[in-house]
Amino acid sequence: MKIIDILNKKKTTLSFEVFPPKKIENFDSVQQVTEEVAALKPSFMSVTYGAGGGTSEFTLNIAKNIRDKYGVEVLPHLTCVSSTKEDVHQMLRKIQANGFDNIMALRGDIPKDGAPHDDYHYASELIEDIRAHGDFCIGAACYPEGHVECSHKNEDIKNLKRKVDAGVDFLTTQMFFDNAEFFNFLYRLRENDIRVPVLAGIMPITNAVQLSRSVALSGTSVPTRFREIVDKFGDHPAAMKQAGIIYATEQIVDLIANDVRHIHVYSMNKPDIAEAIQKNLSEILKV
Ligand code: FAD
Repeated sequence: MKIIDILNKKKTTLSFEVFPPKKIENFDSVQQVTEEVAALKPSFMSVTYGAGGGTSEFTLNIAKNIRDKYGVEVLPHLTCVSSTKEDVHQMLRKIQANGFDNIMALRGDIPKDGAPHDDYHYASELIEDIRAHGDFCIGAACYPEGHVECSHKNEDIKNLKRKVDAGVDFLTTQMFFDNAEFFNFLYRLRENDIRVPVLAGIMPITNAVQLSRSVALSGTSVPTRFREIVDKFGDHPAAMKQAGIIYATEQIVDLIANDVRHIHVYSMNKPDIAEAIQKNLSEILKV
């Protein structure tokens, strides 16, 4: 089933993201936790793609297992900047052969020593290629606070418009910790005539190291209120986990109260955290 049909049909959606193992030795344990997330029966699940594509088979295997065993619709990710056209076309054939209806189309981060290939520069080129290959529902990334490489938000949103016009069905945001950033972004999308559904990406932060790593990678701002929570509880793992789940839940409640319909939780292969958030929202998701 296409994710866009799920988004259009359901009033509110709660979806979860998992990631594949980096090494084959960890495949079984990672598959196990992704199954535990799938058992929660989210609206759908996304499965990330390892940078460089070296673990691409794992993405498809994890996604297939979730779909076939739990009946949960899946969104395998695909990146392009470190791949040749031939690599990407081969992956698209595999995605098609496995009966996937959805692809999250991404450029991927440029490796520190520069991209090894010159076939793709932006996600929009991958999207054009996917469109030419079959009838997929295509998701793409967006950045409420601007993408780290783009110095001007207006330029970033013009690039986003080009990407959406290449054939995107829905967007998922980078994590944000301040809902005001997201609401401002929605206004800018509308001003730029970007009208596809936008899933709010929420990252539950459950330890201090995770926060500094995520912020360093994404450039996401951390509001004082959240910084104080991490300062106070960061050295107390159980307390930080509880506070992180509560903070993420409060963000989601505020979003839904303001008519944001689609929430994507970066559940990071942690079924307990996904379950806690889902439980916190059990009645709210019914309204
Ligand atoms: P693009 O949309 O191509 O944008 C990249 C940069 O190029 C931006 O600064 C944009 O403004 C600029 N740009 C775009 N088009 C043009 C143009 N025509 N001219 C000039 N500049 C342009 N990474 C992974 O490796 N695996 C994953 O599974 C993965 N999943 C993700 C899921 C989500 C929801 C998000 C938000 C990110 C994910 N990432 C993943 C990270 C992503 O690959 C990086 O953020 C990457 O740096 C940008 O990817 P993109 O698809 O947004 O790129």
